[in-house]
Amino acid sequence: MLVYNSQTHRKEELVPIEEGKIRMYVCGPTVYDQIHIGNARTFLSFDVIRRYLMYKGYQVTFAQNLTDVDDKIINRANDQGRTAADVAEEFSAAFIEQMHRFGIMDPDIRPRATREIEAMQEMISLLIQKGFAYPVPSGDVYFSVRSDHNYGILSGRDLDQLRAGERVEVNDEKRDPFDFALWKAAKPGEPSWPSPWGEGRPGWHTECCAMIHRYLGTPIDIHGGGADLIFPH
Ligand SMILES: [Zn+2]
Repeated sequence: MLVYNSQTHRKEELVPIEEGKIRMYVCGPTVYDQIHIGNARTFLSFDVIRRYLMYKGYQVTFAQNLTDVDDKIINRANDQGRTAADVAEEFSAAFIEQMHRFGIMDPDIRPRATREIEAMQEMISLLIQKGFAYPVPSGDVYFSVRSDHNYGILSGRDLDQLRAGERVEVNDEKRDPFDFALWKAAKPGEPSWPSPWGEGRPGWHTECCAMIHRYLGTPIDIHGGGADLIFPH
């Protein structure tokens, strides 16, 4: 069986890390609204792949997260005068119902970001220790894209090329404009958790890495999601 490898940019023979087994993770939704048909297409595609692997006799372990804390959820909650947790709960249930309507199998493991804060903090601490991330005075922690010379390898996009065209968030605390938040300091009224870097919440990019590590063990065989997630996710 040939699968497209995003790292080498070509189709390659699928060779499981552990014989007869496939560990598979598919990025889940940020639960701030109903999903649209394009989202459903992604999840349906990976459901077909999962089922085919099972049909071929592989023992497939499939994990998918729910991003239940994020700017989009907080903004929606503020607009509607509700709590972020309430919005997340409503659209988590809606997502699961929609998946069932499409006949998509439930994941074996469905972690939720807000219940994985400790695992994410551990990962951030490790990245700081190894010099891949740095805390700043405001209480944010950033991933340093320059510290990882493989950064951008999946998308095949070079940081210096990107710089010319892309609009990036201006922030004096970042060492590089493309550095992204692993941990975000809490603003008033936002959901937050205590951390070694102060009250705050995890950045979106921390989530999948921490959950994969915790629930599937790294490395895994297949990481799926929308093509728009390849960079910079
Ligand atoms: Zn993800």
